[in-house]
Amino acid sequence: MKIAVVGAGISGLRTAMLLEEAGYEVTIFEARNRLGGRLFSIAKSDGVLYEAGGEWIDADHHRVLDLIRYLGSEPNPLGQWPRKLIFRGREASEDVVWTEALEDDLRIEAIAREMARDLHSPISSNHQANDFDQLSVAEFFEQNTVSETGKWWLNAKARLQIGDDLNDASLLGWLLGVKQRADRDGDESGAYRIPGGASDLCEKMASKLQGDREMGCVLKRIRQHNNQTELVFNHGTFTFDKVVLTVPPPALERIVFEPALSVNKRCAVEACRMGRAVKIVWQFEKAWWRDYGWGGGMLCDGPIQSTWDSGLGEAPLLTAYVCGKEASEWVGLGDPIRAGLYELSVLFPEAQLNYVRGWFHEWVFDPFARGGISRLAPGYVTEHMQFIGPNESGIHFAGEHTSSWVGTIEGALESAERVCAEIFEKDQRSL
Ligand SMILES: Cc1cc2nc3c(=O)[nH]c(=O)nc-3n(C[C@H](O)[C@H](O)[C@H](O)COP(=O)(O)OP(=O)(O)OC[C@H]3O[C@@H](n4cnc5c(N)ncnc54)[C@H](O)[C@@H]3O)c2cc1C
Repeated sequence: MKIAVVGAGISGLRTAMLLEEAGYEVTIFEARNRLGGRLFSIAKSDGVLYEAGGEWIDADHHRVLDLIRYLGSEPNPLGQWPRKLIFRGREASEDVVWTEALEDDLRIEAIAREMARDLHSPISSNHQANDFDQLSVAEFFEQNTVSETGKWWLNAKARLQIGDDLNDASLLGWLLGVKQRADRDGDESGAYRIPGGASDLCEKMASKLQGDREMGCVLKRIRQHNNQTELVFNHGTFTFDKVVLTVPPPALERIVFEPALSVNKRCAVEACRMGRAVKIVWQFEKAWWRDYGWGGGMLCDGPIQSTWDSGLGEAPLLTAYVCGKEASEWVGLGDPIRAGLYELSVLFPEAQLNYVRGWFHEWVFDPFARGGISRLAPGYVTEHMQFIGPNESGIHFAGEHTSSWVGTIEGALESAERVCAEIFEKDQRSL
């Protein structure tokens, strides 16, 4: 059986690996001229190595950790440095937070855990699901915090996870994440990075594949007739028995399906939005932040929002990660690298003194993702989420947005396993 996998992000590459292991003939089609999609490492000859896209792996993201080990490396553990917090000119550290903020944090944590614990599967069986889904995370924080400091800190932390402003994020969607994380031993988020960079991991995955790989091929149209699927790309037309689409929702929206997808599927694709995100990366002569005994991680109320030490090679690097409306504003600036350096230097003059050069990566207008990670907007979980993943008439849908670990590399891998299980079940093979 001949299967086309469209998209050579990590979900497409993993799907192809699993299908080939089970004996299928697989061809991968990718719109870009590189592998990895939203995983994209930048490497330079002078020791610069960093992630322009996905980066952190939580300690319970076992699929990613196992894959890294399977491909011959050990995940890079994160040093235990507490983040700096800077709000309205006051400074604290995540291990010694302002009392009023800590009280708000503990209250929200307790309320959210209780609400999440009471959520049962299927989501529609919960009588409060609709109410929670209509409410945004921002509204929930507004209602349950007392101090401005606490509200800001909670917003800043959750915005990093969700990848966009919290007034555009469903409370129910966030609670599902809280439920997933509730059984963790401790703070297991952002525990590891991929050694050698995520692009290297994708190259290693691709090196395991036997089938053809067609790069620079943008899928435009899918026609189905006589149990065959015809794929029309910018560079030609190909026919397969089955197809797995791993492209993000904004890219799916631009593909013409003949016959059309069901109304439920089309609405789910349209309703699944992407978070706005940019990264600014600065190279410095030395890692000046370590002179303070600080790891470079920060949340602040200024326009650079968050930073961390992002160097995977020898060169000292800091990355600022900005999400939401402010991310769109950074895209509009003439020189976002210098503007960001100015903002950083206002807080830490050493930044200006040690600056070498910088890079800016914007995902807001990325032609094949239109955003960083998929975001569960208010109303999406109860109305649309159930329709985004299931296959329709021989077309299978993977990608992080179809998983229960939305917005993560782990989710992308989970989705690959799910589509393969769907195909094997129909074909009576096992995973
Ligand atoms: C800035 C940023 C930071 C992130 N941080 C983290 C993090 O710290 N931890 C984490 O776990 N995750 C993070 N993520 C998310 C993670 O990168 C994604 O969840 C994951 O890479 C998605 O993989 P995917 O295969 O589902 O989708 P993609 O990587 O988007 O792959 C889909 C592929 O389809 C291709 N495509 C699109 N349209 C077409 C078409 N018409 N024809 C052919 N090909 C097409 C695309 O070019 C792409 O290669 C981050 C993402 C970004 C952008």
